[in-house]
Amino acid sequence: MEIFVNKAYDKKYEEGFPLLIKEWLADFPMKEGEIFHLMSSKGRFLGKGYLGRQNKGLGWVLSRKESEPLDETFFMNRLAAAMNKRKRFFYDDATTAFRLLNGEGDGLGGLTIDRYGDYYLFNWYSEGIWRFREMILEAFKKIVLFEGIYEKRRFEGDFMEEPTLGRAHPKPLTVLENGVKIAVDLGEGLMTGVFLDQREVRRRVMEQYADEARVLNTFSYTGLFSLFALLGGASHTVSVDLANRSYPRTLEQFSLNGIDASREEILVEDVFNYFRRAVKAGEVFDLILLDPPSYAKSKDVTFKVQKDYPRLIRESLKLLSPSGVILASTNQSSYPRESFQRMIEKTFQEEGCRADLLEAFELPEDFRRVPGLMESDYLKVFFVTRSR
Ligand code: SAH
Repeated sequence: MEIFVNKAYDKKYEEGFPLLIKEWLADFPMKEGEIFHLMSSKGRFLGKGYLGRQNKGLGWVLSRKESEPLDETFFMNRLAAAMNKRKRFFYDDATTAFRLLNGEGDGLGGLTIDRYGDYYLFNWYSEGIWRFREMILEAFKKIVLFEGIYEKRRFEGDFMEEPTLGRAHPKPLTVLENGVKIAVDLGEGLMTGVFLDQREVRRRVMEQYADEARVLNTFSYTGLFSLFALLGGASHTVSVDLANRSYPRTLEQFSLNGIDASREEILVEDVFNYFRRAVKAGEVFDLILLDPPSYAKSKDVTFKVQKDYPRLIRESLKLLSPSGVILASTNQSSYPRESFQRMIEKTFQEEGCRADLLEAFELPEDFRRVPGLMESDYLKVFFVTRSR
């Protein structure tokens, strides 16, 4: 099938933009998994790829060579190139979990592959890319040694509890990140227990911000920021998350690393509820971690980043020691970095102080990005302190 670009976007696609965006194209029938040739408004070949509806768009350009077939060899080449770019990780014994292939950042939009020790996790983001599954798995088997493969069909929101190839991992599966042990489960739910994209930030918390600090970790999930803070010398941690699972899973991460959990607080509670109690009780923290989901709905609270972030910062400032640090993070791709930073500065100002930006983090190098594609550049992290 041929798909024609609207004239105004010829240049964009000529420059290698890989995502099919409805408004930028002439009409075409949406057929999941179908291979297309992308043509300029004047009918010149620009690239070929597959149709697949996902959150980002309607399909991906995979190759700009007209004669290159999208077959097993093609996928093998893409995989090999991705592995080559992560040699550093394969040789690093202290970090055994990382992203091996990051969708469009590795020329294969719609699929991510994460390595967790000897096990791999495939995330399929559209029905369209799922149609190439057999070919891609065959290619993978030929060049990667593994014990087991787990898969999640993100487009349906479902996952396989058992591995689809090889054998099941021990429960829990323990991986290493900068020498720290992390328990993961690749078959339980859509999340594994760790967000690999925050690796550099966890390390920084441990090495730079935790020593002797009283730490509040909100939206704590499996408590990893608390764990890294404790290993970095934190004097006390409070971890707050609404989900029941976060209690046992945080205990598990602590005990795996020899930390006495009885001295730490792990609370299953809405963060705003906790803020209210803590302000009343006069609690003080030297490091407050804010890493909420983009959107969360529970029984009686809906959390939306753009609406609720200022409130998170305001509440945090009430609990922050004079030289304390706030880590403000968001993974919402539609929230531009500059706007997020401005929101932080503005909220500090409204509370009568100035935000001093200490440092900022983006996605780590294994989460390769396509320049100019905002959707693949979602992570924004700022360490901020206040001055008068
Ligand atoms: N910061 C974590 C990841 C957070 S994932 C890490 O680095 O590992 C988002 C978490 O926010 C989920 O565990 C979810 O249960 C929790 N959550 C969502 N809304 C919440 C709320 N209102 N109060 C507390 N936790 C909430």
